[in-house]
Amino acid sequence: MDIVTLHGKYDIYKENALPQRRFKYNKLNEVLQKHLHKKNFNFLYCGYSFEKRPINLLKYGSGPTTVLIMSQMHGNEPVSTLALTDVMNFMESEEELNHIIKEKITVYVLALVNPDGNEKNDRRNAQGIDINRDAKSLISPEAVFLTKVVKEINPNFVLNLHDEELYYMTKPLLLQTAIAMLAPECEISPKALKARSNAMKLISCISQTLEPIAKNRIARYDDVYTPEAFGDTFISNGISSVLIEAGSSEGDKERCFARKTVFCAILTALEAVANSSYDFFSEDIYQNLPLNIRYKSFDLKLKNLEIKSEYGSYRVDLGIRRIKPTFNDEDFTDDFTDYRIVNIGKLDNYGALKTFDASEFCLKGNYSDIYIGKKSDFTIINNFGIEKECQSLLL
Ligand SMILES: [Zn+2]
Repeated sequence: MDIVTLHGKYDIYKENALPQRRFKYNKLNEVLQKHLHKKNFNFLYCGYSFEKRPINLLKYGSGPTTVLIMSQMHGNEPVSTLALTDVMNFMESEEELNHIIKEKITVYVLALVNPDGNEKNDRRNAQGIDINRDAKSLISPEAVFLTKVVKEINPNFVLNLHDEELYYMTKPLLLQTAIAMLAPECEISPKALKARSNAMKLISCISQTLEPIAKNRIARYDDVYTPEAFGDTFISNGISSVLIEAGSSEGDKERCFARKTVFCAILTALEAVANSSYDFFSEDIYQNLPLNIRYKSFDLKLKNLEIKSEYGSYRVDLGIRRIKPTFNDEDFTDDFTDYRIVNIGKLDNYGALKTFDASEFCLKGNYSDIYIGKKSDFTIINNFGIEKECQSLLL
């Protein structure tokens, strides 16, 4: 299906019961129940999270190739689950693509692998365990269930859906990454290398197909071999696992653009697996994707602001960034609104999600009001007496 057409149809299939980025488990469950009533998706069985929330395994189609789509192993990464519910709505429709998918693939869906984490907006499960580092130890019931499911359905492909922090950008243009993908590293064995090769080809296909809708914002996720992670374990076992990370875009707090991009990515992947077209793509396209880098960036850079003082005037750039009031490094910064000055000086070498040229402004206040750690509750003023509050520039 032509990507521009698919992208244009997105609003028809967007799950309106889940309009916002953060949702509660019960709301998702209502959506899954809706699908089960329609009978294209069948309920197979469920596992339980540590706090006994059901994790439902659904099945769609009856083709010989098997694909598992699983989302939100990390509880604070809900965009991937939202995109998956949008895809499920598409899969309920009479679109021609669905007939091909149903005939060629059996699709298994595990939406929200970490429901306890989702309730608390926490990356980890209720035991404080990172499920994606528990593939070998299997302490968490969620990891045990996931391992059991994969053993039983023995998928050819896994789409492992995650979200990433908003500071990730693509080189060299330093645009916020809309989607990042990875074919995880693996053990060196013929079956693992073949599985990884197919994962790379599939990513090559997805990235090239998505280019018209997310130009220069599709990245290769950078990672080292992590044997305790699920993706790496799957590939080592001969399953072509593709990590898909939903990114972000400027001012898009609900991450609607990333949600739509991942919707397109999942359906592109299903089509490419259904007709085996991924096999015609070179691994080089994947290898040459721009790297997804966590750029040392600010939320806002105020450029060239004049600071007046009794000791003399000067101009500086101010770097302003959100601070996480948490001990957990993996919490997403965009859940917080405590903005602070984190750098002062000439900041040309630092990226920023937003830059404001303050050349015509000076600080309303004293030089000693501007310091590292200062809240962004100051005001700037220009020669005509027009004032701007820094906070208003952040929104
Ligand atoms: Zn994740």
